[in-house]
Amino acid sequence: MSGPEYFRRTAVTRLAVEDEDHERLLSMVREWKRGCQIAVNAAWGVCHTRNEVQKLAYEKLRERTSLGSQHAVLATHRAAEAIKRALERDDDAAKPEFTSPTVVYDSRTLTLFDHRNISLTTTGDRVRCRLVFPDHGYQSRYLDDDRWEPAKSTLHYRDGEFHFHLGFRRPRPDVDLPTEDATVLGVSLGVENLAVTSTARFFSGAELTHRHAEFADLREDLRETNTRSARRTLRQAGERIENFTRNTLHEVAGGIVSEAERHGCSVIAFGELEGVQEMLTEAAPFHGQAFKRLFEFVAYRAAERDITVVQVNPEYTSQRCTSCGFTHPQNRDVENNRFECLKCGSEANDDYNAAKNVGFRCIRRGPLSSRGVGAKYCALGSGRVTPDGEFVPNEELEAVGKP
Ligand SMILES: [Zn+2]
Repeated sequence: MSGPEYFRRTAVTRLAVEDEDHERLLSMVREWKRGCQIAVNAAWGVCHTRNEVQKLAYEKLRERTSLGSQHAVLATHRAAEAIKRALERDDDAAKPEFTSPTVVYDSRTLTLFDHRNISLTTTGDRVRCRLVFPDHGYQSRYLDDDRWEPAKSTLHYRDGEFHFHLGFRRPRPDVDLPTEDATVLGVSLGVENLAVTSTARFFSGAELTHRHAEFADLREDLRETNTRSARRTLRQAGERIENFTRNTLHEVAGGIVSEAERHGCSVIAFGELEGVQEMLTEAAPFHGQAFKRLFEFVAYRAAERDITVVQVNPEYTSQRCTSCGFTHPQNRDVENNRFECLKCGSEANDDYNAAKNVGFRCIRRGPLSSRGVGAKYCALGSGRVTPDGEFVPNEELEAVGKP
């Protein structure tokens, strides 16, 4: 599993636009929408890849709109995406209509200056304006850091104001891969415990499961009553459960990453998500989705701390004894969340046992990632340990200044 080449982030800002530029940007929005629509009209039912749509519609856009050459290209690409998305959704989908007041920009049509100034290509002169965001807002993380370069972005017009969703990208680092004696934080995912780390930190999944079950019941109840108020109730409940899910996953992701930092881990290992889902027969349908999002949230936060996040094959991680290596399905007592080795008798919480195995597997076989990780230790609450049992307690690590 090789990831994309770039990390991508978006900084949302308001634009401080001079009066005379306001109209320029508005006319740009109008031309952009028109251009996208012309491209869709030409390509609908004909083609849907970027190259095809560009070939078909580029000249038309140049003739019939006042978009510059690069924006004409971007509009054909935008049209291609819209067509593709419509076709994916539905076999007899309606032709996309461009109504929302947005314009796509890229590194050739926007220029970022110091002091939070930006210049944007329009149908006439370029417009230069200031990016407005809170003084210590997260936006400055990307704007003030040369490692992030401007990428695909979007201009939005709403409630009489312009906003800019400034996209940034940064090459995925190859150089700061973990060193030979790196330490891994193993993470096991589950239903009862959403996540458990090899350092014995537990993140309960009970509330999430409970609320999703409640929501599923409500949806079932309202399925028959297709009234406006029923639909509204369902929509509101849907928004609430989504907010709760997102907040929970962000909290857990933050907890996992700070646990990795606290224990000096440069790698976080998860059981490969597809495999985890297959193994969790008791998993509610939403869990697969929740695991993927959790993984993304962790990867997102970890990237900025130069921690690598990998997935390893989770097979047998819940059945293998971390003390003696004996692997057997009956080592695990799922009902009671216990692990008891049939051979050596060592006992543990079953998710905690699995988390250690995930960490060890990352060391033994290497992760599924093509790049490979030269990790040596798995982090435990009390220190770090190699798969062969070589244990270094935390006190010793602190003594040499490597927590
Ligand atoms: Zn054992």
